[in-house]
Amino acid sequence: MQMNDILKQDHYILSQLDTVADLARTNSLWYLSFGLACCAVEMIHAAMPRYDMERFGMIPRASPRQADLMIVAGTLTNKMAPAIRKVYDQMAEPRYVISMGSCANGGGYYHYSYSVVRGCDRIIPVDIYVPGCPPTAEALMYGILQLHRKIRRNNTILR
Ligand code: SF4
Repeated sequence: MQMNDILKQDHYILSQLDTVADLARTNSLWYLSFGLACCAVEMIHAAMPRYDMERFGMIPRASPRQADLMIVAGTLTNKMAPAIRKVYDQMAEPRYVISMGSCANGGGYYHYSYSVVRGCDRIIPVDIYVPGCPPTAEALMYGILQLHRKIRRNNTILR
């Protein structure tokens, strides 16, 4: 029987609170507009009409207090590291981080540079790594879907 038919017949459905919380979380990931370098262009690409991240309920936010997802898109420098940590600490709980591209994952081309952090996971905890230089918008979308799976797999109101 289709969900619509069930609703028409009985006007209610039973579920677990955890499942409803997961559904709400995965379909309302508000992400911080946080571009550090060239990867940010692919992140913008994913937000534009062709891939349209908004169909997953994803809205870019300019304030960390209204965001629960940070997409680290670009090269993280030592100078920027304290700022990214501060912004992360101001985000709403439960919060998630996607590390996008070789630079954010491990320093990338600039791995041996004196000024670059060798992976943003040295500064903040990362949930999903998206490989590539730059990763395509499709790769980022795949990473977002993997994050959905991870949130659902945890299946708890607590993080
Ligand atoms: S991974 Fe490549 S595209 Fe992304 S910020 Fe680094 S150099 Fe630029």
